[in-house]
Amino acid sequence: MPELPEVETVRRGLSPAMEGVVIEKADVNRPDLRWPFPDRMAERLIGQRVDRLRRRSKYILADLSSGETLLIHLGMSGRMTVSGDPLGQYAREHPMAQKHDHVVFHMANGARITFNDPRRFGAMDLLPTVTADAHKLLSVLGPEPLGNDFHEQHLIDAFQGKNTPVKSALLDQGIVAGLGNIYVCEALYRGRVSPRRKAGQISAPRVAALVPIIRQVLREAIEAGGSSLRDFRQADGELGYFQHSFDVYGREGEPCRTQECDAVITRITQSGRSSFYCTQCQR
Ligand SMILES: [Zn+2]
Repeated sequence: MPELPEVETVRRGLSPAMEGVVIEKADVNRPDLRWPFPDRMAERLIGQRVDRLRRRSKYILADLSSGETLLIHLGMSGRMTVSGDPLGQYAREHPMAQKHDHVVFHMANGARITFNDPRRFGAMDLLPTVTADAHKLLSVLGPEPLGNDFHEQHLIDAFQGKNTPVKSALLDQGIVAGLGNIYVCEALYRGRVSPRRKAGQISAPRVAALVPIIRQVLREAIEAGGSSLRDFRQADGELGYFQHSFDVYGREGEPCRTQECDAVITRITQSGRSSFYCTQCQR
């Protein structure tokens, strides 16, 4: 499942093909993904210019000249492919239509954006730009981890008196938006905090220390996404996933990477999801 850095990478990959460009034609090949598409979606997109392509949590938001915003969620398996990119350097042929190509945008600059999603957990919606923040998917979100509203005092206040494990607290999208399983595991390892520790029982300085760590973990992943983006664009233009090396995530039974630590990484299940951590380094 794409997490915030993957979604940001997709946004950056789409931006040169979409921003400032009119959607000439939109193919909507089925009535729904996870939810029904909005009424007359194709009609409402055609002829509109994408004024701005932004991201909120794991949602890509395309602000259109019509005053509506197209919300895109990749779900579990959604992928966006850019082809015919007119920028020259990365120009590539439009691919043959594939099974699960559910929505295709034909841009006025010759680019084509294909949304393919075999499992159909993805979503698209159209909402008025001015009230976009009030949309049911967006209004519940806490601050962006890379934004100014996510700061030490915010996290300290959010954790105060909280009886849930810190792992669950950081996955709570109302506390901080866009953090998923992978990057929470990585941040807790760097912060040397056990995922099992109750959020309300961690000292304020240790909670505060998690804030720059979370930002750093995400920034590094976005950077890795940036390098993979260059590879993608040279290859098949597909966006959405990239290989990234993790310190604990997916490393059950492998040696801890902390110097002087001879433990191996442990995996436990918390709220139905795997947590990877070092029982020696993380307390
Ligand atoms: Zn260790």
